[in-house]
Amino acid sequence: MIGRGGERMPTNPNETDAAPRQEASEPDTALSRREMLMIGASGAAALATNALAQDRGAPAVATGSVAGLPFRAFVRHGTVGEVLDLELRDIGPTQVVVRTRGSCGCYTITGSVLGNTPMRVPTIPNHSGMGVVEAVGAQVRRVRVGDRVLVSGTPWCGLCKQCLSGTPEWCNYLAPGGVPNDPIASMADGTGVIESAVIGGLSEIIVAYEEYCVPIFSDLPDVEIAMLGDTGAVGIAATSVYDPVQIGQNVVIFGAGPIGLAAVQGARAQSAGKIIVVEPVRYRREKALELGATTVLDPNDDTDTLVERIRDLCAARTDRLEAGGQTRGGGGFVMRGADLVVEASGLERFPPAVERGPDPTGLLALRQAWEVTAPGGSLVTLAVQTGDIAFPASTFCLSGKRIYGGQMAGMNVMRDTERFITAIENGAIDMSELVTSTRPLDEVKEAFQSVADRTELGVVITFPS
Ligand SMILES: [Zn+2]
Ligand SMILES: [Zn+2]
Repeated sequence: MIGRGGERMPTNPNETDAAPRQEASEPDTALSRREMLMIGASGAAALATNALAQDRGAPAVATGSVAGLPFRAFVRHGTVGEVLDLELRDIGPTQVVVRTRGSCGCYTITGSVLGNTPMRVPTIPNHSGMGVVEAVGAQVRRVRVGDRVLVSGTPWCGLCKQCLSGTPEWCNYLAPGGVPNDPIASMADGTGVIESAVIGGLSEIIVAYEEYCVPIFSDLPDVEIAMLGDTGAVGIAATSVYDPVQIGQNVVIFGAGPIGLAAVQGARAQSAGKIIVVEPVRYRREKALELGATTVLDPNDDTDTLVERIRDLCAARTDRLEAGGQTRGGGGFVMRGADLVVEASGLERFPPAVERGPDPTGLLALRQAWEVTAPGGSLVTLAVQTGDIAFPASTFCLSGKRIYGGQMAGMNVMRDTERFITAIENGAIDMSELVTSTRPLDEVKEAFQSVADRTELGVVITFPS
């Protein structure tokens, strides 16, 4: 997910009381819907004809229609999930049709893909993908037919209150009521199918609002770009957006799944001092060491002393206060701790097939992450837990810890995706290290079972081009 994403998306009527609209909303224009669509060769021709008008900000005159285009998608409907043949409906003036090439699996949707909770509205799960633009609505300016594009788990419009206020990770196109989640396709019996998070991803076709689309001007492989729609980008962002790591600073990362391991790489790329990873699964600890962790800890070993051991690892080199040192005391206000802490472990939706952590709710790791954050340090919380957590009020209020509830780790996807691609192209970060398998659409359940089992890191659903 999205850092805190998954099936949280407010525009999914399966998780809200909002009744889904069965028809796409009429475009706000004098042109008919059919006239406003462009597709394939005719679309490209129309685009060329209208390039000047586009550059001046006027909507292009579009021709053709995407309605009726057949495609396959993994659909959760009723109590089942299966690959179905669907028929695309018309798109709106600010929507984009993407021929999918990759969609990275996210732990937060394992329950949606593998579970049997009844779905009121048939839904294509997931919340990111990448591919090639096949058609655009007439008012779309950011991407063009033929563009390689990332459909990010988080939009950026640049104009809403949050985008203008420096919190683009909560662009209002993501918020409840931001954009309608109308059916984008029909099943054989005519029933409408929506996309989870207005993106979906486990589908040969993604219909996305323009604000979710990031054009990609790079030759990086599809699979690596797909990782930047969600987990891979979230981990890099955790170390480089809210409070970027400074040279020599100490970083602690809870969880060495795809997000945590991307954070390890981000910390290493920025020359962090100590990079301490807390992870119960042995192969993930070993991978963390490969990718730049300086210390790995099993949270099941001496769980009660874990926090103190991490604080000691992060302590100043001397206790001589007049020489840059730190006191060892503190009670509720311990000075020793990390400059940046990333919480990326989260709850166990399913019992893993590998080593288990000490707390399946994820709350213990969240508590420990807060405790090892130094006064003045930063905590970025990315994972999803279950239940409530309490902190000592005085320490919570006075300790000077900066806490970031890290939806997409604060990314501005239009600004930061290109930076991350550059770091990958330079070799500072390697997304391919996080991808342990690719699978076709027909193996969605097997792919997400391995994610739920935690036997793999990143799994990308791929589509023949
Ligand atoms: Zn996600
Ligand atoms: Zn916005």
